[in-house]
Amino acid sequence: MSSETIKKADEVIMGTYKRFPTVIEKGKGCRLWDKEGRSYTDFVAGIAVCNLGHAHPSVVKSLSNQADILFHVSNLYYTFPQIELASWLVENSFADQVFFCNSGAEANEAAIKLARKYFSEKGEKGRYRIIAMEKSFHGRTMATLSATGQDKLKKGFDPVLEGFDFVPFNDAKALEDKIEPSTCAILIEPVQGEGGVRCPDPDYLQSVRRICDEAGILLIFDEIQTGIGRTGKLFAYEHFGVKPDIMTLAKALANGLPIGAMLAREQIASAFVPGSHASTFGGTPVITAASLEVLKVIEKEKIVEHCREIGVYFKERLLWLKERHEVIEDVRGIGLLLGMKLKTDGGPIVKKCMDQGFLINCIQDCILRFIPPLIIEKSDIDALVKCLDEILMAS
Ligand SMILES: *Cc1c(COP(=O)(O)O)cnc(C)c1O
Repeated sequence: MSSETIKKADEVIMGTYKRFPTVIEKGKGCRLWDKEGRSYTDFVAGIAVCNLGHAHPSVVKSLSNQADILFHVSNLYYTFPQIELASWLVENSFADQVFFCNSGAEANEAAIKLARKYFSEKGEKGRYRIIAMEKSFHGRTMATLSATGQDKLKKGFDPVLEGFDFVPFNDAKALEDKIEPSTCAILIEPVQGEGGVRCPDPDYLQSVRRICDEAGILLIFDEIQTGIGRTGKLFAYEHFGVKPDIMTLAKALANGLPIGAMLAREQIASAFVPGSHASTFGGTPVITAASLEVLKVIEKEKIVEHCREIGVYFKERLLWLKERHEVIEDVRGIGLLLGMKLKTDGGPIVKKCMDQGFLINCIQDCILRFIPPLIIEKSDIDALVKCLDEILMAS
C-alpha cells in the first residue's frame, strides 16, 4: 500500500528530501500513526515544531473558529489576531515591535534587511556586512544560505551573496578580530541546532553582547529553533542574561502552521517604514489566531517549566547511556534540544528506532538529535532510552 504511494510521490515531488519510506497519516499528542496503522512516539516533533504535540484540542478549536470568521485580507488592513499575537510577543520578550512572515528563512531575511536598513537610515550606507558562525544554519533562501556557515549546503549555488563573514562559535576573540568598519551585525543561534546541538560556553554570549555594544553593531539572535520554550525558557537568551537587538522566530510559533516573526527594539524597528518590506500572507488571521492560542496554552499549562524539568531528566538518561556504551562520544544540549554524538554513523540507529516505534533524528551524520513535543512524559523517555540501550547493546 505505502510502496505505491511512495512511488507516486517520488515521481511528482522534487527530490529535495531523503524521506523515510513511511506515510504518516495522523497524530495525537506525542503519538503518530502511519498508513499501515503502526504507531510511533514522536521525538522529532516535525523538526522542533509541534511543541504541544499533534492535534492539540484548543489549538484546533481556535484555528477552526477563526477560519469561520476571516481567512485573509492582506496587510493593507488591520486584523485582530495579528495585533493580539504581536502584543503577546512584545509583552513577553525584549522587543517592542514585530514583523510577521511565513517561515524561518523569511524571518532571517527580514532581520538581515532590517540591520542593513538601520545603518543606511543613519547615513552609514557602507555598513552592511554580517558576521555569522561556522556550522550555523539560517535557512535556504539566497541570503540566509549565504549567512549559513556550512559550505556543503552552498554547493552548486554560487555565487552566494556577498557581505557575510564567518568565525567559529564560542570564540569571542575571533569574533572581535573579524569586525570591520563595514560590519553592521552579528547573527547567531544562542544554541546551534542543525549544526550539531552546540551550547554556548558560560559567558560567551555576554562577551558577544559586549563586543556588539563596543563596536556599535547589532546583535541578532536566530531563535527559530530555540524559541517558544524549547530550551526550558520561553526564549533561549533568557538563560544567558543577554538580550539581542533583533530576534527571529518560526518553527514552533504556531505548532505546525507556517509562520515566521522578526522582533526588534523600537529604535531599530523604526528603520522599516511603509514600503520597506512586506509579505502577502505574513500574520494572516487564521495562523496568528492559532499561534496566539499556542502561546496561551504554553503559559497556562506551564509547558516551559515542564520542558525544563523533563529536559534535565532526559539528559541524565542519555548520560546514563553514555556510561554504558563506548560508541557514545558526547551528550549535550539544553531543555528538550538534546544531542548525542556517536563515533559512528547514526543513520542505522534512527532506522532501528523507527522499526521499534520511535521517531528520532540524525544530523551531521553522527549526531542523534532529540527534539520531542515539550509535553513528552517520563514514561516515553524511559521507553526510548530502553530501546536505544538494546540497539546499542546489539550493535
Ligand atoms: C529551521 C531553521 C531555520 C529555517 O527555517 P525555515 O522555516 O525552514 O525556513 C533558520 N534558522 C534556524 C536556527 C533553524 O533551525
